[in-house]
Amino acid sequence: MIYLDNHATTPVDLRVLDAMLPYLRERFGNASSRSHRYGWEAEEAVEKARAQVARLVGADPREIVFTSGASEANNLALKGAAARRPEGKDGIVASPLEHPSVRETVEHLAAHGCEVTWLPVDREGRVRPEDVANAITPRTFLVTVMTANNEIGTIQPVAEIGRIAAERKVLFHTDATQGVGKIAFDVRAEGVHLASLTAHKIHGPKGCGALYVRQGTEIEPQAHGGGQERGLRAGTQNVPGIVGLGAACEICRSEGEEEARRLARMRDRLESLLAAAEARLNGPREGRLPNNLHVSFKGLDAESLMLAVPEVAVSSGSACASGSMEISRVLKAIGIRPDAAKGAIRFGLGRFNTDAEVEEAARLFAGAAARLRKVARR
Ligand code: PLP
Repeated sequence: MIYLDNHATTPVDLRVLDAMLPYLRERFGNASSRSHRYGWEAEEAVEKARAQVARLVGADPREIVFTSGASEANNLALKGAAARRPEGKDGIVASPLEHPSVRETVEHLAAHGCEVTWLPVDREGRVRPEDVANAITPRTFLVTVMTANNEIGTIQPVAEIGRIAAERKVLFHTDATQGVGKIAFDVRAEGVHLASLTAHKIHGPKGCGALYVRQGTEIEPQAHGGGQERGLRAGTQNVPGIVGLGAACEICRSEGEEEARRLARMRDRLESLLAAAEARLNGPREGRLPNNLHVSFKGLDAESLMLAVPEVAVSSGSACASGSMEISRVLKAIGIRPDAAKGAIRFGLGRFNTDAEVEEAARLFAGAAARLRKVARR
């Protein structure tokens, strides 16, 4: 099998696993236990990981809140900010191409008294900063725009939006899940107040993520009791997961840039090989995640194509949307025609993919596409 679905999740790096294992075995303590060595060791490990996460994104460790992943971080950021919004403010400005954990949370807030303005996007799925500026009203308290899209890989102009948010004195949240570790992301340079990330997209474990909360930003906890994570997220900390997230971030910090170049080179190779099989790029050519390739195979149906290539794990549209035949919202929003959207496949490269795998995957897809087209012509 060749795994090319790294936007859905990534395999755990063995260095991450090695860092985690002691905390599943002999160092099993509760990081909140204050009266013995088990607790102290666990707490020390959690604080080390906090510093590792903070360093990757340019934050202060005290600004990092551990969660169960990016979905929870997004929920905490948005509901938490809404619960503490200033008197008389109810406006949220949001991008329409967000992951469901942002979009549905924003919809929930809309059903509970917030006024939501959905931003337009261009044909590459990009939000224009001037549209953000125009959408902000005196009632707006929050803007949320993701760092990079999980389907078509579009990188958003986060820093420009951050400057607008600062000028207009509104909070700015970004779901940085797909961007962290792949592209430069520094919370201060981007001007964000809140940023979500998750371990399992950067070769860490599932079930652990973090929310960056800029010092001085007030959000309401969504899980109460216990006082962990400076009172912002109650519950015994997932020490092995947190250690894994920290280790994954450390590797991204030291190897991320180089890895991104390698992934982009492999991705470009894959694209040129698939172009010969009439696979056309969806989304942007520039300003795209280095590991993302999203193409439509002309005249074909993605489900049939994937069935014909069981050796390669990829995704049709977004992982969350697959299983249903509905055309992805993201593809709809960027104006991909329904027949092209039906033939759309997302390739997501990761740390452990090789040149040989890329060549083989392209060969298999091109072969299957040719066979299916021949059958269709009969
Ligand atoms: N945000 C984006 C952009 C994602 O791609 C994902 C993963 O599917 C999530 C949030 C959710 O992350 P998690 O699985 O950690 O809840």
